Amino acid sequence: MKKAVFPGSFDPITNGHVDIIERGLDLFDEIVVAIGINAEKQYMWTMEQRKSFIEDAFKGNPKVKIKTYNGLTADFCKAEKASYILRGLRNSLDFSYEKSIAQTNATLTGVESVFIISSPGASHISSSIVRDVARNGGDYSSLVPFKIPKK
Ligand code: ADP
Repeated sequence: MKKAVFPGSFDPITNGHVDIIERGLDLFDEIVVAIGINAEKQYMWTMEQRKSFIEDAFKGNPKVKIKTYNGLTADFCKAEKASYILRGLRNSLDFSYEKSIAQTNATLTGVESVFIISSPGASHISSSIVRDVARNGGDYSSLVPFKIPKK
């Protein structure tokens, strides 16, 4: 069985993430969407909210699991018996950042990274843009797959 971990902060999940997960399902039998816990990071949405947004987006799809993890992504992959890390690429900045992480993971643990380039209509979407719009009271409903909860 081909199993991949799709790690991230998902603060919040966006239509860009959904694009990558849905297309990843053509390659993998199971994708674990893994929300990394970083105690030093400030998030806009709580862990429970971020998890429930992803659950709503993939409700009824048994090939998508949602989990949280601490520590190294490569260690989480080992614990999950997943041989692949799935990541999305929007532009050359993403590529430069991901390249050294992927090479380090491959060298240290042998876990292979697989990259999917974002769909043309999704490469402008990022969680940080959604947070900026949210912070300023804008409507970000066209950028995310979940219903926006009242603040
Ligand atoms: P991180 O904090 O690790 O960057 P994110 O939640 O921002 O986590 O993103 C998780 C993954 O999703 C990363 O591989 C990122 O490049 C990818 N991603 C985010 N937005 C998009 C998008 N619009 N199109 C394609 N990939 C995306």
